[in-house]
Amino acid sequence: MNIHEFQAKQLLRGYGVAVLDGDVAHTPQEAQAAAAELGGSIWVVKAQIHAGGRGKAGGVAVVRSLGEVAAAADRMLGMRLVTHQTGPDGKEVKRVYIERGCAIARELYLAMLVDRKSGGVTVMASTEGGMDIETVAAETPDRILTLTLPPATPLQPFHARRIALALGLRDRQLSAAAKFLTALNRAFTDLDASLIEINPWVVTEEGDLLALDAKVSFDDNALFRHRRIEELRDDDESDPLELEAARHDLNYVKLDGNIGCMVNGAGLAMATMDIIKLYGGEPANFMDIAGAATKERVATAFRLVASDPSVCGILVNVFGGMMRCNSIAEGIVEAAREVGFDRPLVVRLEGTNVELGRQILGQSSVPITSAATLSDAAQKIVHAVRSSQGTGALRLVKETA
Ligand code: ADP
Ligand code: MG
Repeated sequence: MNIHEFQAKQLLRGYGVAVLDGDVAHTPQEAQAAAAELGGSIWVVKAQIHAGGRGKAGGVAVVRSLGEVAAAADRMLGMRLVTHQTGPDGKEVKRVYIERGCAIARELYLAMLVDRKSGGVTVMASTEGGMDIETVAAETPDRILTLTLPPATPLQPFHARRIALALGLRDRQLSAAAKFLTALNRAFTDLDASLIEINPWVVTEEGDLLALDAKVSFDDNALFRHRRIEELRDDDESDPLELEAARHDLNYVKLDGNIGCMVNGAGLAMATMDIIKLYGGEPANFMDIAGAATKERVATAFRLVASDPSVCGILVNVFGGMMRCNSIAEGIVEAAREVGFDRPLVVRLEGTNVELGRQILGQSSVPITSAATLSDAAQKIVHAVRSSQGTGALRLVKETA
């Protein structure tokens, strides 16, 4: 789960991480009032969406009067901000964060994340702050320092010192960096975060160290013990189909391609997506119906996949173990008929009651192509979608992905 910058800063402040004062606003009037309350003569108006790259896209404005605060907020609120992280549709700005402005001497990069290999927390730091860290990693990887802490071990003063020295921090900034890093590490562990990224981590002209931006992602599996964090969830930032699927306890992830996938079990889902790609297709989603034992839930899952306008065809690949193939077939036929599904539909069933399942599919009025094996199924759906779209369609999806 992700949260907004203003929420991340509020949380981090509680752990003693240095951030500037700021307040959130939903209207230009609120923005102006927030700036007046903060005082000073320079403010920064920042669009709050779950994506980075706002600065380059016009979502961060440095202003010098209360009138300009209101004008910047008025321009940003309601706009669809398109950054390199939002995709071409962008994200609607529903709130802005009004923050004190600061004079920046240096922009550094700092992140903490879980290192899957060691199971410990890795600290990443770089002198190249304010930039896309992926670009830094690709072009000047030697400018990124990584330090992996042993599992279940908090960051120690000597770790902090090593990081700070590598970033060229000296004198009183060394102790400030140690304080900052220790506080950030405590927040990371305490909140069950999976990522905290501070980009930029700035040195001000006065020599102070501050988190000027903050991205915090949480481990969803640990959210049950953080009710306060769960309340920060912003449904506006999620894909509506993913939300609807979650309401039905279905594991659904939207992807960029045009072949809808309905499978049971995450392993089979991955294998199905791989083999679709192998035959030149692109999956439009990941829909795992494992545990959806009734035909009603299979039908719900099918309706959700079919309701995605980018889906040009659906591949159902289910191994009926606990779940019987006849229930799956009934669910598919019912939902396909109900939504008037007229795009290619390939079904591969195996397992308990498979004959009965095939019979139901065969006798239905819905045009369904049966497949015997996984590769047969993948080839058939890729071919069918390609023929229904003309050969250009798949290529187009690839290019825009
Ligand atoms: P994003 O990463 O989405 O582009 P940031 O919060 O990192 O957004 O802001 C982009 C840039 O705007 C920063 O690199 C920094 O140079 C500047 N900036 C952001 N907040 C402030 C602030 N409070 N005072 C001065 N400059 C700021
Ligand atoms: Mg940033």
